[in-house]
Parts: sequence; structure tokens; C-alpha cells
Amino acid sequence: MTEKLEALKAEIREELDGLSDELTDLGKRIFENPELKFEEYKAMEWLTEKLEEHDFSVERGVGGMDTAFLARCPHGSDGPTIAFLSEYDALPGLGHACGHNLIATIGLGAGLGLCSVMERLNGQLLVIGAPAEEGGGGKIELIDSGVFDEVDVAMMVHPSDRTLVGRGSLGVQELKLDFYGEAAHASSQPEEGINALDAVIGTFNNVNALREHVKESSRIHGIIIDGGEKPNIVPDHASARFYVRAADPSDLDELLEKVKNCAEAGALATGAELEITEEGHAYQPMEPNPVLADLVKENFEVLGEEVEDYEGGMGSTDMGDVSQKIPAVHPYIRISEEDTPGHSEDFAEASDSDAGYYAMVTAAKALAMAGVDVLGEEENYRKIMKSFREG
Ligand SMILES: [Zn+2]
Ligand SMILES: [Zn+2]
Repeated sequence: MTEKLEALKAEIREELDGLSDELTDLGKRIFENPELKFEEYKAMEWLTEKLEEHDFSVERGVGGMDTAFLARCPHGSDGPTIAFLSEYDALPGLGHACGHNLIATIGLGAGLGLCSVMERLNGQLLVIGAPAEEGGGGKIELIDSGVFDEVDVAMMVHPSDRTLVGRGSLGVQELKLDFYGEAAHASSQPEEGINALDAVIGTFNNVNALREHVKESSRIHGIIIDGGEKPNIVPDHASARFYVRAADPSDLDELLEKVKNCAEAGALATGAELEITEEGHAYQPMEPNPVLADLVKENFEVLGEEVEDYEGGMGSTDMGDVSQKIPAVHPYIRISEEDTPGHSEDFAEASDSDAGYYAMVTAAKALAMAGVDVLGEEENYRKIMKSFREG
């Protein structure tokens, strides 16, 4: 790396050390005011105010969502456009148990850090506020409405129990299965009935048989929403919901067909009618850009973070949809004891801890520094685009 880039990165670190108390206050304020998906008004207001204080020009309500925003660093020139992403939605009942208060402030901090040296780099810098990661798919709305059309590279960091850069996420599609049977007295005229619950149970058994023959990374998990009213009434309606997940878009399509067949077989065996609705949760797999991931890794390590290799379970995120459109990374930074599950009270506690806020500032520095690598060194950008095209 050239001396010039080293010097810019040192400036960014100093800038963010100077802002660290302010960023911590904001991360804490968002933690203490958890807002559910699409209702993140306070967080959006606080983040955008801070960006405006630093001369970003801010557009609120982009993508048709009140709590989304697009903020532009004033120092831009010809070259690639980088976007840092903030998420800020909380979980029902658990508050910030996914640490999105930290993600919010990491995106903001990375933006302020990189913007402070943008005059000496080639390109443009955006901070995008993406609502409703937890099941609302805010980033998908932003993609569909064209907000990402001007973006070449997107980056964010998620808190975790480990620091990882290459971990992806699974694509997911929710299936709603409604079975319609025929009610009858379950004891006096059972032969008149068509049992919709049996169709659901058949579906689960078929799915459990299918499970033996899916790829290691695939996941199928379901619940029964409606299983009838009373034991002496043959259920004329029963309903189940499944999440079907896979690491690759074509694997997901194939698995969805197989799960639908499991339900068709349940319906056929019992004589129930089946209605399948693909609704709700649907995210593409996250495929981290390997070149970008390496750049983030190098910068994490310069900042003293130990980056682990990881092979294990994965969830899903709407950052996956972004990564299918443009080169993107969604690395993780450690804020808790190892094996602390996400979406737990312990993880919420870690998201409001000194270690959590320290990691937040570190992650903001790492993203901004990786931004210097992307915008300050043409070769890096060329490699990122090449690896994206080659998939
Ligand atoms: Zn979550
Ligand atoms: Zn999350």
C-alpha cells in the first residue's frame, strides 16, 4: 500500500477516535429506544441529523419507506460509488437483541470517517439507511426503487460472537400452506370427513424424509398455525408455515419445488385441497465479495481484531439481495462471549456494553479504511469487479 493511503487511514482513525464518544452516545440512545421494523423514526432522525451536521446532503423517505434515507458526502468526484449501510430496527419483545443499534452507528461512523478524507480520493460516498432487516426486507425495496443503481460497492458490519469476514447467508423463502378438508363428527361420521390436519402432518413427515437428501447448508423449518378446533370435529382447515433456505439461488428454487411436492402429497393422501402462498420472508443468499472481504480483513487486523475462519450455520439477511446485485460484504465483529446466540437477552446486553461500543468504533474504522483501499487504489476496484463478474 502506498504511503498516501496509509496516511489517509491514519487520519480516519484519528477522526473516529475523536468522534467515538458521540458515536457511543448515539448507539446507546438507539439501544434505549428500540423501534420495530418500518417504525424506526427516532433512529432515522438521529442518524440523519448527525450526517447533516457533517455536511452530508440527506434525502429522507427514499424507496417509499418513511424511515429509509440516502445521505451523500459533499466531496465527490469521478470514480466508483461506495455505500455504507445502516440498519436500525429492533426485535419484538427483545429490543436490540440483534445489535442493530451498533450497525446503525457503524454505517454512520464509517461514512463520517471516509468522508473526512474524500477530497483526496476518487469517487463518491453514500450512507444508506435501510429499515426493517428483521423480516421487512427494506433493502429489497431500496433495490427495487433504484436506490442502489448508482452504487458500485456496498459494505456493512454486523455484531456477532465472532469476528468473521467471509461468512455468507442463506437465501430464504416463506411458504404458507393452507389445507381445506371437510368437517364431520370425528366419532359418529368419520367417513364423511376430510382431515386437513392429517394433510399438514403428512406434509411434515414428507419434509422430514426430504431432509435426509438436501445439501448440508439447506434448511427447512415449519410450524403449524391452525390444527383444528376440537378433537371431535374433523378439521376442515389446517395451516402451516415453512421457511425454506439454501445457499444458492438455484438450490433454493429446487428445494422450494420439493417442499411444495411434500405438501401436494399430503393433500393427495387425505383428499384435502391445498393452497400455497409464497409470502413474507424472502431474501437472496449473501455471497460476500472475496476481494472486498480480504480488504476488510486486513483492516480489521491492523486494528487488532482477530479474524476467524468459520464453517457453520447461517441465517438470512436482505443484504443477500444487495450482494446479488453489486459487490458487497457483510462481515461480523465480535462483541460477546463465544457461542452467545443472536436474538437473545445476552446478545442484547452485549449490544449495550463497553465491548460492544468499542467494537462498533473499530468496525466503523475498518469499513472506512477499506473504503480508502477501494477508492484510492484502482487495482483493488478492478479486482473486486472482476471477481463479482466471475461470481
Ligand atoms: Zn436479527
Ligand atoms: Zn441483525
